[in-house]
Amino acid sequence: MRPESRPLLKPALSRAWRDKETLQFGTVRRHARLVEEVDQAVSAFLELIDGSREHTALLDAGERLGLGTALAEQLLASLEQSGLLDDAEATTQALAGYPRPRQDLLGPDLASLSLVHPAPGEAPAVLRGRSRARVEVRGAGRVGAAVAAALAAGGVGSVTVLDKGRVTARDCSPAGYPPTEVGRLRTTAARDVVHRAAGAAVAERHRRASRAPASEAPPMLVVLAPRDGSGAFTGAAAESHRLMRAGIPHLYVGVLEHLGIVGPLVVPGASACGSCATLTRRDEDEAWPRLLAQLADEGPGRPRAPACDSALATAVAGLAALHVQLYLDGGHPPSVDGWCEISAADGMARRLRLPNHPDCGCLWQSVPQPRPAVRESMRMA
Ligand SMILES: [Zn+2]
Repeated sequence: MRPESRPLLKPALSRAWRDKETLQFGTVRRHARLVEEVDQAVSAFLELIDGSREHTALLDAGERLGLGTALAEQLLASLEQSGLLDDAEATTQALAGYPRPRQDLLGPDLASLSLVHPAPGEAPAVLRGRSRARVEVRGAGRVGAAVAAALAAGGVGSVTVLDKGRVTARDCSPAGYPPTEVGRLRTTAARDVVHRAAGAAVAERHRRASRAPASEAPPMLVVLAPRDGSGAFTGAAAESHRLMRAGIPHLYVGVLEHLGIVGPLVVPGASACGSCATLTRRDEDEAWPRLLAQLADEGPGRPRAPACDSALATAVAGLAALHVQLYLDGGHPPSVDGWCEISAADGMARRLRLPNHPDCGCLWQSVPQPRPAVRESMRMA
């Protein structure tokens, strides 16, 4: 760890004694770690690793406890290697990038990140990356508004929602628009949903929005969640062609009939795209592209009263937001070169592989990929 770091035993992990001298950190067996031969001095030393002392001060405390500096150093190194330590200083700095009410709301999210990204200071660096991210959600129905809310709650710095028209009862969901929003402009109501999820007062958000200049920067990722549910089957072809040309990563998501789908998440030039999915489905049903065209954009074949189970829409929106976060955090979500389905008929979730289609050509020429600069920010830390 850096000398100015303040080591902290991860508060997200439970601590339980397996016997008189063996302390287990974490409950989930796959991630649990054991500290053995814990005598009184070691136990007292562990209590001091609470983020209030710098590394050197901790070693001095180990000396005073009779542990000896060398053993204290060795113990700290071993705890770090086992993924049990975080850096309280880096955590404080990462949270300082958010307004006060949001810092408290993000506590559990940061605790979760500390388990996914185990090195000291790694989770705060990932959160700082999220705070700089800009995501655009296109489509503000049951799924789209809920995806936007989940992303804002997870610490994504800028979440913009694009749609037209006014909120109807069909757009409302427990994680998106409340029923009181029926009749308001969808984009205005969605801004308030995002702002509430981020933990700030709506009136304050409007004051800031009126002062802030509009962002010209392209989004790091676009979520395609059209209200007609065609995002479930990679509809919105014109939009996705523009995104492919611009090299902007995008994720399809939607609920159509009793099926909710997340994916593919397309990284232009590096993974299978929406057309690959359409062509793959065409191989099984040659009429598929014609059918899809009639479903999308309020076409003549659209259902007259579209089905959308509330629980399914909420689950799909949560899964989509999780995949977006994984991507922004530098990971490889399973919707890349694939998609995930959740069925209202049986509640099962499954992942299907999506190979690049030989007739598509989207991977013929590599496009520079914008990636979040999380790793870079860690080096700077
Ligand atoms: Zn393709």
